[in-house]
Amino acid sequence: MYTTSELAKYPPASEFGQISRVLVVEDEELIREMLVLALEGEGYEVIAASDGRAAVEYLKSSEANSGESNFDLVILDLMLPQVNGLDVCRLLRHQGNPVPIMMLSAKGSETDRVLGLEVGADDYLTKPFSVRELVARCRALLRRQRLSALPPAPVLQYKDVALYPQECRVLVRGQQVNLSPKEFRLLELFMSYTRRVWSREQLLDQVWGPDFVGDSKTVDVHIRWLREKLEKDPSHPDYIVTVRGFGYRFG
Ligand code: CA
Repeated sequence: MYTTSELAKYPPASEFGQISRVLVVEDEELIREMLVLALEGEGYEVIAASDGRAAVEYLKSSEANSGESNFDLVILDLMLPQVNGLDVCRLLRHQGNPVPIMMLSAKGSETDRVLGLEVGADDYLTKPFSVRELVARCRALLRRQRLSALPPAPVLQYKDVALYPQECRVLVRGQQVNLSPKEFRLLELFMSYTRRVWSREQLLDQVWGPDFVGDSKTVDVHIRWLREKLEKDPSHPDYIVTVRGFGYRFG
């Protein structure tokens, strides 16, 4: 959990250089005002609605079905006049609105929690809750949403070999292969510069580092292991090709 000083040290609103917009939907005035104050204190832009129909109106101007929302987070009470929280949540998801939803409920029953999550809420808090916990959970939801909005890490792909740099994963003809860290780094380098010819010294320098003490036979040994994992026929390689008198190239 976050301490107050940590919250002050890292203002969440500016964390990604953008003010987060939060919609608070709560019919109990005291709780609504408390939420608005706490979230504004965090630097968020807060809009408040006191019933389900007003919430739906606020959210309607979101670009439904476009994968976009005009809010970054919705805090939604379960029991609301007009349209209840579950129906608001269901409607939003039905419209394809991906906005993170934090459900609030006076009832602490497991059924409510499960139902809330089932209709598409991302998190659930039972009243009475501490404002600090609510704020911490909101921050977590917002952070998760920002991260998922980032473009996926690029995949290096050449013919039947795919390398996922951030997952340290390699697929060869659709099958995952296990590489040692050095083999992985070597392959990543090769695939980042297909058809470039590398000398053994250059490969040692890039993969093992300038402080490596040993000889260039190390490179040949690793190339052999890598070929055994990548090539259909390691003695007639398609991927890692020997360039006589120079070194190796990929592709
Ligand atoms: Ca209520």
